[in-house]
Amino acid sequence: MSIFELDKEYVAATYKRFPVEITSGKGSVYYGADGKEYIDLGSGIGVNAFGVGDEEYKKAVIGQLDKVQHTSNLYYTEPCVKLAELLCERTGMKRVFFGNSGAEANECAIKAARKYADEKKGSDCFTIITLVNSFHGRTLTTLAATGQDKFHELFRPLTPGFVHVPAGDLEAFKKACEETNPAGFLMECIQGEGGVLPVDADYIRAVRKYCDEHDIVFMIDEVQTGNGRTGKLYSYMHFDIQPDVFSTAKGLAGGLPIGACVLGEKVKNVFGPGDHGSTFGGNPVSCAAALSILSRIDDTLLESVTRKGRLVHELLDGRPGIESITGLGLMLGIRTVKPAGEVVAAAIEKGVLPLLAKDKVRLLPPLNIPEELLAKGCKIIAECAE
Ligand SMILES: *Cc1c(COP(=O)(O)O)cnc(C)c1O
Repeated sequence: MSIFELDKEYVAATYKRFPVEITSGKGSVYYGADGKEYIDLGSGIGVNAFGVGDEEYKKAVIGQLDKVQHTSNLYYTEPCVKLAELLCERTGMKRVFFGNSGAEANECAIKAARKYADEKKGSDCFTIITLVNSFHGRTLTTLAATGQDKFHELFRPLTPGFVHVPAGDLEAFKKACEETNPAGFLMECIQGEGGVLPVDADYIRAVRKYCDEHDIVFMIDEVQTGNGRTGKLYSYMHFDIQPDVFSTAKGLAGGLPIGACVLGEKVKNVFGPGDHGSTFGGNPVSCAAALSILSRIDDTLLESVTRKGRLVHELLDGRPGIESITGLGLMLGIRTVKPAGEVVAAAIEKGVLPLLAKDKVRLLPPLNIPEELLAKGCKIIAECAE
C-alpha cells in the first residue's frame, strides 16, 4: 500500500491532508517523496521558527538528548529553569508553567484566572470572556473558549462558563462583564485560525484598562502570534500593554512540543503544589530547543521579520487576483479573488506550501526564510491567484 493508502487505513481521519509526503528538508525547503522541492511558507503552522535542520538548533537538541531526555517534574533540570528565567526576563512576567501544546497552555491560563478569582472574589466568579471568531484549542475547555460554533457542534456539553463577545465592540465587552462577573478575559491580538484578523489596537488597550480597574485577569493567547512571528517577541508588545497572563506554544521550541503559560505579577502566586501538572511539561529536550530559539529572537531578527512582511506586501499588493493582505510581520492572510483553496492547491502543484485560514491564503514561513526564497514563493502565489 502507498503511504496515502496506509494513512487512510490506520490514522484517524481528523485531517484533510494535501497529497504531499515530506521526507526531509533544509532551511525553508522541504523535499518530497515525489522528488520535488517545496518552498515552505507555513513552517508546520508557525512551528519551525528557524526552518528545518538549523545547525545551532540541532546542536542544542542533540546536546540535551545526549545528557537526559526526560526526568518528570519530581526533579530539577536546568533547561526548564533557564527557559522560564529567559521568558520572564524578556517579557517582564514573573513565572511560567510548562505543558506540551497551545491548548494546554490555554487550559493553564484559564485555571489560573479561575483560581485567582475564586480566592479573591468567590466561587461564583468563574466566567471567562473570549472573542467571537477566536481559536484557543481542541480540548473541551479550550473549545468552549473558542468563539466559533462550527467547532462546538457534536461535542456538547462543553465546559460551562464561557461567553463570546464580538472583537472591537467595547460596549458589548462591558455589558458582558456587568452581566457575568467574569474571572478573566482571553484574546488573540491577531486571530490566526479566524482568518488572520488583527483586533483593533484601541479596543485592546481599553479592554486592558477595564480589566485592571475591575480586577479581571487579562490574558493574551500568543500561541500563534508569539515568539517573533509578528515582528515583536510577543504580539501584545505592539500595543504598549502588559497582560496578566499570556500563553504560547507553536514556534517556541522550533519544532518540538511545548506550551508555556506565562504568569504576571497579579497571578504569579496563584498556583501551589498539586494545583496543576503535566507529565511531559518542562521536558528538558523541548526546553533546550526553546532556549536555542528564544535566545536568537533578537532585535535584528525581529527587524528582518518586519522587513520580510513588507516585502510580501510589495510583491503582492495590487496584483491581479489579490484583494487584500492582513496581519503583521510574517503572519499574513491574503484574500484572493479565486477561492483560497484553489490558489493553495495550485501553489502546491508548483512547489510552494502556503496555508489556509478560513477564506484566505495564510503565510507563516520560517522566521529566517531567505528573502529570495520568500520572493520566489510569493511570485508563484501571485501567478496562481491570477
Ligand atoms: C494553534 C493554536 C492553539 C492550539 O494549539 P495546539 O498546540 O494545537 O494545542 C491555540 N491558540 C491559538 C491562537 C492557536 O493558533
